[in-house]
Amino acid sequence: MRKYVITGVPGSGKSTQATMLARDLDLVQISVGDIFRWHVRQHTKIGAHVRRTMAAGKLVDDDLVESIVRERLQLHDWNYGFIIDGFPRSRDQAEFFLESYDIDAVIDLRLPEEEVRRRVLARRICTGCGRDYNLVTEPPATENSCDACGGELVTRADDTEAALTTRLREYHEKTAPVLEIFRRKTPVVAIDTRPDEITVQQEIRARLGLPDYPDRAGSVRRNRA
Ligand code: AMP
Repeated sequence: MRKYVITGVPGSGKSTQATMLARDLDLVQISVGDIFRWHVRQHTKIGAHVRRTMAAGKLVDDDLVESIVRERLQLHDWNYGFIIDGFPRSRDQAEFFLESYDIDAVIDLRLPEEEVRRRVLARRICTGCGRDYNLVTEPPATENSCDACGGELVTRADDTEAALTTRLREYHEKTAPVLEIFRRKTPVVAIDTRPDEITVQQEIRARLGLPDYPDRAGSVRRNRA
């Protein structure tokens, strides 16, 4: 049983790296951002509550985030463990989480700010299946159309200059300090995510003492919730 948290600035590759690790190690991947985006797409009550907050790049209130995470983990479908991406993002969330779960390691993805802007502003997401693309590094085969389902590709509502500035501020003010709370009882491994995604994955595995990534040839694409 392995339990990991993956954290980092927007665009640092949390979801990509979590997917690569989860797929191979049979971990359940939990992304609070994906769960919220699903609610927004399905027009649920939760979706209506979080839509504007997300689009502005602000953090959703801790109580709602904690109940989403609690319910998800209580499904206990994670027989081999889990990797949770984009949580905890505040001191309260971290304390709530650490009361109930012992984490094996926190993976802290690092990326300089100019590269964050370059990556995030080139990101596109499929309106049909949620798969994401980068127009610079991972463009779709046909312009504006998802390779998997043919859905239309759009910019995420929070991938604008203004929302990104807010997300980065939220990250530095509220999320980065969470690492100090973890460091008291959990190993935290800092990883430079400027190299390509497979090199980054290999580095994560080396630092966690895990077997090498099996598919060095293929790049990873993922379906988001
Ligand atoms: P992400 O896909 O992880 O970048 O998350 C997208 C947005 O969802 C964030 O900018 C927040 O508005 C919201 N969100 C995701 N995870 C959390 C969290 N742990 N705490 C508060 N808000 C969150």
